[in-house]
Amino acid sequence: LLETFANQTALAIERARLADETERAQVQIETERMRNLLLSSVSHDLRTPLASITGAASGLIQHQAHLDAYSYELAQVAYEEAERLNRLVSNLLEMSRLESGNVQVVKEWQPLEEVVGTTRLRLEKPLRDHPLTIRLPENLPLVPIDGTLIEQVLVNLLENAAKYTPAQTAITLSAWPEGNGVVVEIADRGPGIPPGDEERIFDKFYRARPNTAGGVGLGLAICRTIVEAHGGRIWAANHPNGGAVFRFTLPIDGKPPQIPID
Ligand code: ADP
Repeated sequence: LLETFANQTALAIERARLADETERAQVQIETERMRNLLLSSVSHDLRTPLASITGAASGLIQHQAHLDAYSYELAQVAYEEAERLNRLVSNLLEMSRLESGNVQVVKEWQPLEEVVGTTRLRLEKPLRDHPLTIRLPENLPLVPIDGTLIEQVLVNLLENAAKYTPAQTAITLSAWPEGNGVVVEIADRGPGIPPGDEERIFDKFYRARPNTAGGVGLGLAICRTIVEAHGGRIWAANHPNGGAVFRFTLPIDGKPPQIPID
């Protein structure tokens, strides 16, 4: 009889605990939903004024002849900061878009060089103070990727490499075939990731050193969502000689289409 009592009590406690957990999870999901909704609506509203500011500042820069040196410098600061804010807002919008499940990964066989090239053009200014070395071997196979999304991953990783490292320190982007796919690596010579934070930095809104310059902690979360949507994996580590190393894999399923030789 006593054993039955004990069993029943244990079951009741277990049920209460589970109900509690479910409620907590539901509150968390709802909070997340509200936060995403708020972020995406704020981001949408920020886009238009930001575009006007960027346009006005770039107009001023183009009329350099009519400006004194000080005004020109101010116009340049306004333009670069507006661009930075633009990238931040894009990340916010991208995250809510990716999370809503409305994003289709449209894979096409592409040479990685192409995506690296467009990324480099987009990051001309943020990478101005960092010598960038690109190492792509000639035998790199075509990869089935959504070019726009993988470009976003490279932009976020390279921008971080520039943002979190002292000026003039080198950044290297390399890729090589490995197993059934390609590995892409972005390495810098900055302070690296605080030990123990290598996993958490990929969480949404997590920032390892909150007081440093930068964004809101979404860049790497976006990278992870995109890489995983391609069936790959992304991780971070510190180089034994210093600096952070980010790697992601792009699996290759199937065979690229044959291009007829003319
Ligand atoms: P954000 O840059 O907006 O803070 P991210 O998700 O891109 O967000 O990065 C999360 C955190 O990871 C950053 O706040 C930073 O502390 C750390 N981090 C990212 N890249 C690097 C890097 N190359 N070197 C050192 N720390 C980095």
